[in-house]
Amino acid sequence: MTVVGGANSAGQAALSLAAHGAAVDLIVRGVELGARMSSYLADRIRTHSRIRLHTGNMVRELAGDGTLASIVVERPDGRQDRLACRALFCFIGADPVSSWPAGLAKDDDGFVLTDSRLPTRSSGTPLPFETSAPRVFAVGDLRSGSTKRVASAVGDGAGAVSSVHAALASD
Ligand SMILES: Cc1cc2nc3c(=O)[nH]c(=O)nc-3n(C[C@H](O)[C@H](O)[C@H](O)COP(=O)(O)OP(=O)(O)OC[C@H]3O[C@@H](n4cnc5c(N)ncnc54)[C@H](O)[C@@H]3O)c2cc1C
Repeated sequence: MTVVGGANSAGQAALSLAAHGAAVDLIVRGVELGARMSSYLADRIRTHSRIRLHTGNMVRELAGDGTLASIVVERPDGRQDRLACRALFCFIGADPVSSWPAGLAKDDDGFVLTDSRLPTRSSGTPLPFETSAPRVFAVGDLRSGSTKRVASAVGDGAGAVSSVHAALASD
């Protein structure tokens, strides 16, 4: 099996598959595994007997007849090698699902702008986590600039509740 990606999601996936007995090829575009992955994951991956680490590599081709059978990876020196592969898991980034709250101000990647990130607006200073629409709040991964972690999302939510109380008190 092949996992593509160099950050924590890819590292967790590779270790999880290997823990269930799979031989895993981990394809990382960057040259240094620890650049974007927590060291607790990178250290386990480097020493795991069922994970083959391919840093500085890029997937160039998927091949198969009906189902996936192999991939072609480009090595750091430009050489291309074919690896057997029956399943490929891709962890190369996430896009926010933010088209539905149309009209909210967003950053260039589609994450919702709140409070200090908003352009100055005429209707007063926004409350923490308040969006460009007064009384609409955004928290967690969807919020522009948030740390994409569970604890951060939970903290954002608790903070937004305070803002809701402040908004209600001011009405
Ligand atoms: C593979 C992976 C591994 C991770 N590992 C860790 C980790 O080890 N530790 C850690 O702290 N963080 C980890 N994270 C990050 C963590 O999962 C997120 O930061 C966290 O879940 C963000 O919470 P959230 O509530 O903002 O968003 P989400 O958890 O994404 O929740 C958003 C919810 O909104 C729903 N939704 C979307 N649109 C609509 C709509 N129109 N109407 C109704 N519902 C809608 C979605 O279905 C989803 O259920 C990981 C993420 C991934 C992808």
